[in-house]
Amino acid sequence: MKKVLHISTECYPAAKAGGMGDVVGALPIYLPQFGVEASVILPKYANKWFTQHKFKTLQKGKFQLGEETIKYEIQLLQNEDLGYPFYCVDIPGKFDRESIYLADDGHGYPDEVERNIAFQTAICEWLTKGKQQFDGLHCHDHMTGLTTFFIKYCPAYKKLANTPTFFTIHNGQYRGIFDWKKVNLFPDFNRKFDGMLDWDGSINSLATSIKCAWQVNTVSPSYMEELSENFDTLTSLIQQEKAKTSGILNGIDPELWNPAADKYLDQHLEKNKWAAFKSYHKNALLKRYGLKSRRPLVGFIGRMAHQKGANVLAEAIGKSLGNKQSVSFIILGSGDKMIEENITRLAKKYPRSVAAIIAYNEGLSRQIYAGCDFLIMPSRFEPCGLNQLYSMRYGTVPVVSSVGGLKDTVPDISVGGNGIAFPQAETQYVTQAIERCVDLYKDKNKFIALRDKIVSLDYSWNQSAQAYATMYNG
Ligand code: ADP
Repeated sequence: MKKVLHISTECYPAAKAGGMGDVVGALPIYLPQFGVEASVILPKYANKWFTQHKFKTLQKGKFQLGEETIKYEIQLLQNEDLGYPFYCVDIPGKFDRESIYLADDGHGYPDEVERNIAFQTAICEWLTKGKQQFDGLHCHDHMTGLTTFFIKYCPAYKKLANTPTFFTIHNGQYRGIFDWKKVNLFPDFNRKFDGMLDWDGSINSLATSIKCAWQVNTVSPSYMEELSENFDTLTSLIQQEKAKTSGILNGIDPELWNPAADKYLDQHLEKNKWAAFKSYHKNALLKRYGLKSRRPLVGFIGRMAHQKGANVLAEAIGKSLGNKQSVSFIILGSGDKMIEENITRLAKKYPRSVAAIIAYNEGLSRQIYAGCDFLIMPSRFEPCGLNQLYSMRYGTVPVVSSVGGLKDTVPDISVGGNGIAFPQAETQYVTQAIERCVDLYKDKNKFIALRDKIVSLDYSWNQSAQAYATMYNG
């Protein structure tokens, strides 16, 4: 069997900030049936999951990070079977923090660059000096993508130079751009290849990974197409590298996301009685948040970021409720303070129609998937989007802007599709989409037929895992 190591900063259940964590936690479970044995390596954070688990040290070592001597340990998870070997890199002072990316002030850690370089250097040291060998290295987003450069151009890691590398873009907006002054933090490399690191005069981790990896994929076909048309400063790069690019749609783990057994739900789907399941959870939400009943309940779950269109949603909700639309909303998310305030203000203005929960809460997210009639995703761009897949699995009709993975998974009901689709994240389109939710909800037969259809769709990992296995073999 081919052995592939996933190098990532997130992996559910150890550490997750978004969809990438779900993907890295699930894909390895589905690969062995296609002849690939996958392992995962993560930084060792000081969160609850890591402190509750036991690890065995496999290797200890040190290296220079500029002036600083970094001590690290490679450890292997002992007391839980995730379905694949799970390694972590313990680097005291760098990763022993509770949050994955964000400092207390809500901004990224100021030493993000140092941390990412240290993590990747430790992995290269281990792979060069340790016993474990892999037939492929799979890096996820810019935080781990410099590994593709290190193994190619650092003499110390020459042994790894011919190991195939795979790079997945989960979100091309984040690029890991930093000043050339920080190049002294890198392990020694052949300076003839400075050009591989550079984009527009800075070190650009994302561009470097696209240049150096053997294969590059996005998490949906449409997102790769969109990037090749407009990836702002990187459009020409992605066009140049087209031959090695592809789009592989994410899957979901139907065991972890299972309305018949979800550990976060106090009532499960029984014998496919969807009406009973949905109304139990809807009523629970309405009661808990004091929302009006006998009208559709529309949910939103996600980062309060420009990408997710949460500000457009706030405007559209204001318009819809101002026009006396009979609809309620439940919004769960956190992020941009201005967007959080806009949403909170709406909930104060319309307390019986809008519930706003500014938090990251896995349990509540499951209850929202279970209890809503619709889940709205007015994303400006969406590399894949998992929420629409989870919502369909829980019998909730997705309402999406037709971009990236949303376009690939939610064609509009008018063309025999799976939900309500609108062209883009603009207030007028989102307001119209909300109107369509109200109309569809009134047409009970049509609404229930659509629900019956979406709960039977298969978005499990099998297909995508096969596509990744093909990529590793390519
Ligand atoms: P992202 O761009 O954030 O990675 P995805 O749609 O790919 O978006 O994945 C989002 C994942 O994070 C889903 O599992 C979703 O349920 C979860 N999620 C996002 N925000 C929250 C939140 N506030 N509370 C709980 N889960 C959340």
